[in-house]
This record gives sequence, structure tokens and C-alpha cells, in this order.
Amino acid sequence: MESEYITVEYCTNCANHRTHTRHNEQKYSTVFHNLKRALSITIPGISILANSIPQSWKEFKLYSNLWDISQDLYLLEPKLGAFEVSHEGNVS
Ligand SMILES: [Zn+2]
Repeated sequence: MESEYITVEYCTNCANHRTHTRHNEQKYSTVFHNLKRALSITIPGISILANSIPQSWKEFKLYSNLWDISQDLYLLEPKLGAFEVSHEGNVS
């Protein structure tokens, strides 16, 4: 059985764009970890990724911000202010 993934792209390195935003990087991280915990309970066995996608998702051409391959994943350079949740697969 293939793994199912949910990926969350969220803003990081907020200190580097603090001159024109009021992002709180800790808040992004906390919301991600709370979401990950809730999804893991709700959907046992799902893989939840932070700022990365499985290599198989590259064919969808939805991401122009891929910057490296690490293990079986493409790492994303998160968009400024992003908190985007993506899923491909069936969840019952
Ligand atoms: Zn930010």
C-alpha cells in the first residue's frame, strides 16, 4: 500500500522578513504541530510533511518553489506568509 501524505507549507525564517511583516514564526510552528497531532489521531498512518512534498507530487506541477531533494522528498522554499495544506489520496 502506498503512503498517503498531507503536506503543510508554512512560513519560516520570519526574522528575515520582519521589516515588512509581523509574522510570528513560533505561531506558524505551533499551529503546524497542533494540526499534525490532530491529523495523526484522525487519520492513522497518514504521513504529514512540513515544507516538503513526496517526489511523486512533482508531476502535478503545482510547486515552483522546490529547491532540493532530501531522501524521497522535495523540499519547499515556503512562500511568504503561507500556511497551505495539501493532500492527494483518499481519506475515508
Ligand atoms: Zn514569515
